[in-house]
Amino acid sequence: MSDRTEITTPESLDDDAHVEPSLRPSRLAEFIGQAKVREALSIAIEAAMGRKEPLDHVLFHGPPGLGKTTLASLLAREMGVNIKTTSGPVLEKPADLVGILTNQREGDILFIDEIHRLRPIIEEFLYPAMEDWQVDIRLSDGPKAQTMTMKIERFTLVGATTRFGSLTGPMRARFGIVQRMNYYPPDELITIVRRSADILGIEADEHGATEIAKRSRGTPRVANRLLRRVRDYAQVRADGHIDAEVAVAALTLHEVDDFGLDRMDGQVLRTLIEKFGGGPVGLNSLAVAMGEDSTTLEEVYEPFLIMEGFLQRTPQGRVATPRAYRHFGYELPEAGSPSPPQGSLFNDEG
Ligand code: ADP
Repeated sequence: MSDRTEITTPESLDDDAHVEPSLRPSRLAEFIGQAKVREALSIAIEAAMGRKEPLDHVLFHGPPGLGKTTLASLLAREMGVNIKTTSGPVLEKPADLVGILTNQREGDILFIDEIHRLRPIIEEFLYPAMEDWQVDIRLSDGPKAQTMTMKIERFTLVGATTRFGSLTGPMRARFGIVQRMNYYPPDELITIVRRSADILGIEADEHGATEIAKRSRGTPRVANRLLRRVRDYAQVRADGHIDAEVAVAALTLHEVDDFGLDRMDGQVLRTLIEKFGGGPVGLNSLAVAMGEDSTTLEEVYEPFLIMEGFLQRTPQGRVATPRAYRHFGYELPEAGSPSPPQGSLFNDEG
């Protein structure tokens, strides 16, 4: 797992953690984009409040950095309830959840990030909690272990996952509201960048915000991170004002090109074109040639390259598209006879 700290990585990085809370919208109405998701949630909230009932269990799925955690806290805010946050991999045993579940008040929210990574033993423990509002507590260990069933308040479980397909069927079936988050179109990202610039106290004009939005891979977290890097540059080199020229100069310095492709994306495509004649090649061979972990390649880099039409997954393997050839200045191979490109950039890099 090398190079996970690329500036365009959609997962949260350490330095995001300090800034993200201040950039989080605090009302559902302030949440930009995802109109369908917002509407479905507004209706569910209004209906639940009208019935004076807790919200149904909610599942958000979609790529990282699109606002799943943000929406979970907005749900709590709009419903006027408390929220406790945890994540699949940190929960080791049911006892880790007993305290939270028995102390929750009616309607409170338990948010579980990466819910596809829950251990089976935790899932089993959650089913009766989600359905019958009760938990089984083990009083002792061993084959004759005694258990006690305890009633809990009706609560709302909000789950988030980047891998809907990895969620078990029984878990999936227990969510009344399932919402898919999609990548953001450029106009919404521009609005997000301008809003964040306001909060950070920096001037970004329309053109500057557009350049940042264009390179943000459809992802608000990336947009906010690029904005912070551009802000640093603007403060030092441009009196703190972000226009198109400043944004482009700053992002070029960070090796983010005008499609939002970073150094690693470039390496994926160049390896594919130079070492494998543009493919098709299997995921593992490509990963080995790059010295990269195949899961990282598949989950972190490929989705964006596929979405933007630089790469295709075919039954025979990964293939570089004509767009990838053009973007990196390679000559398109003749149909049926892939030829090594001229003026190899990859070799220049050693
Ligand atoms: P996820 O849980 O999907 O990985 P987060 O909810 O943690 O994503 O969002 C990442 C960052 O992007 C946060 O700082 C959040 O404020 C910002 N963000 C996400 N979606 C939006 C949005 N629609 N409007 C404004 N900011 C957003």
